[in-house]
Amino acid sequence: MPVPAAVHVLVLGGTTEARRLAESLAGDRSVRVTSSLAGRVAAPRLPPGDVRVGGFGGPGGLAEWVREHRVDALIDATHPFAAAMSRNAAEAAALAHVPLLALRRPGWVAQDGDRWHSTGSLAEAAGLLPALGERVFLTTGRMGLAAFAGAGLDALWFLVRSVDAPEPPFPARMEVLLDRGPFDLDGERELLRRHRIDVLVTKDSGGDATAPKLTAAREAGVPVVVVRRPPVPEGVPVARTPDEAARWVARLHASG
Ligand code: NAP
Repeated sequence: MPVPAAVHVLVLGGTTEARRLAESLAGDRSVRVTSSLAGRVAAPRLPPGDVRVGGFGGPGGLAEWVREHRVDALIDATHPFAAAMSRNAAEAAALAHVPLLALRRPGWVAQDGDRWHSTGSLAEAAGLLPALGERVFLTTGRMGLAAFAGAGLDALWFLVRSVDAPEPPFPARMEVLLDRGPFDLDGERELLRRHRIDVLVTKDSGGDATAPKLTAAREAGVPVVVVRRPPVPEGVPVARTPDEAARWVARLHASG
């Protein structure tokens, strides 16, 4: 009997969930998985399966790559804030006529005792800070620090945590903490205490790896500025977990 060809799945990654999905798909002989990384992190944790690194050159380039490498399905497992790539994925999937799924971990939900301030952008978050505190724990990543570099924030001090060193423009008064999650609650409590943090800024990234800072802030009565997520492009189905995404691939294969 002829052996059915493996389904080629391209996972747009850069997240823990993308890596977990690649691990899960790599164990399935009916699937061939390629993970794509943007190349932003100097030493990324590589998933199993094939890996390619760097941009595609916009939606047209991604569609071309999909056709050339005979990709059967595309999974956008990028970070919830990688909005440009998610738009490109939607456009490329339409151009190349391949099914697309977005893998998005659920966002965080405020609990009793939280003092959250929801904002639509980093710039809006920066605008709220002077009214909330003076010693800011900034956990929004090294990209986008320009929003906090304005003269109006000169009186504030920032603790900036990022995986790789940030490049200017960045806040005038800051200390950089190079670190990569997961972070534990004791460590986050200690960080808030040691640096006398009185306001925290975060994106609504969701997930467990970086959630302990929210618990530590709640316990310490520290206000949190939470930047809301951009929406998933219209019409793109969403899976919440790598398992759910793997089942979507299995269904494709079964129907294929
Ligand atoms: P973005 O603004 O949405 O995308 C900018 C450009 O980077 C895209 O147009 C694309 O270039 C390239 N790109 C992004 N993700 C890619 C991928 N997985 N494979 C190949 N090219 C990719 O993205 P971003 O916010 O800078 O994020 C970049 C990467 O870091 C993503 O993989 C994301 O999952 C990860 N990440 C982002 C955040 C965040 O807060 N934004 C946090 C943690 C991890 P071309 O147009 O040339 O194809």
